[in-house]
Amino acid sequence: MLKSLERFSAISCLYPVLLVSMAVLLFSASPSPAQNRTVRVIAFGAHPDDCDLGAGGIAAKYAMLGHKVKFVSLTNGDVGHQSEHGEELAKRRRAEAQEAGRRIGIEYEVLDNHDGKLLPTLEVREQVIREIRQWKADIVIAPRPNDYHPDHRYTGVLVQDASYMVIVPNLVPDAPPLTRNPVFLYYSDRFTRPQPFRADIVVSIDDVFEKKISILDAHVSQFYEWLPWTEGVLDQVPNDPAERKKWLAKWPSAARTLQPEWRQALVKRYGPQAASIQHAEAFEITEYGHQPSEEEIRALLPFFTPITSKEAANRQGTPPQSMR
Ligand SMILES: [Zn+2]
Repeated sequence: MLKSLERFSAISCLYPVLLVSMAVLLFSASPSPAQNRTVRVIAFGAHPDDCDLGAGGIAAKYAMLGHKVKFVSLTNGDVGHQSEHGEELAKRRRAEAQEAGRRIGIEYEVLDNHDGKLLPTLEVREQVIREIRQWKADIVIAPRPNDYHPDHRYTGVLVQDASYMVIVPNLVPDAPPLTRNPVFLYYSDRFTRPQPFRADIVVSIDDVFEKKISILDAHVSQFYEWLPWTEGVLDQVPNDPAERKKWLAKWPSAARTLQPEWRQALVKRYGPQAASIQHAEAFEITEYGHQPSEEEIRALLPFFTPITSKEAANRQGTPPQSMR
């Protein structure tokens, strides 16, 4: 009897240790796909400068932390110039894209579909599926299907059509399917119909703003020739390389100054620090990919102020979005 009592008391002493160990095991088994491993991001644009504008800042941040980013332009950009065109222009733009990627340490691929003629065909959808699978993407970024430019619109449609299909083995059998649907994000935009962009995730790019301007600066044919020409300001572009970089940094689409409607998402993850943030990139979580919990967002985008223990306690018991 005494023996069994002693045994009981020894086991009961172990209870707290066992409970803590079980809690640690349960916690570490919670869904955080990117925790302690490389995050893999693939961003799609219609033209060889679109990804840079929408996600150049976070791409630089990921690369600095050792994560992997690939930009893919679905067209070769062979139309976007006032005096050059065709194969020569495509060659120039591919070289500019390669240089942009080199400047921040990411991959940049330019596919050979023609600029201004992109359509949401099965052939291009399969190109997109293949790219996402081969990159083993955790995050896929693309424009929303609402935009002034048909190539941008169809890039949005093509990536939307590839989401989910990336896990279907019988499609595009030459590229092994992903075992899990990635998180799909939209770049921010200013279009309001049928619904405005919703800033779910806003990342400060103040620390990499120079790097972002530096990759835009690599696209000489666009930011110093074609786009100023379309806006009637070609004569304002400085000749001096340092001066024109400064000029570029003032362009609204390059500067990415904070929009008032992004403030809430910024405060949510940066706390009081949010008040001093100047430049940011914002993203909307699409409904068609994996719906990440807050913990997953913080693991996949490891840029935010760590949550306090009080915030963590408040979150306990909140089911992930995918289960709501
Ligand atoms: Zn474009």
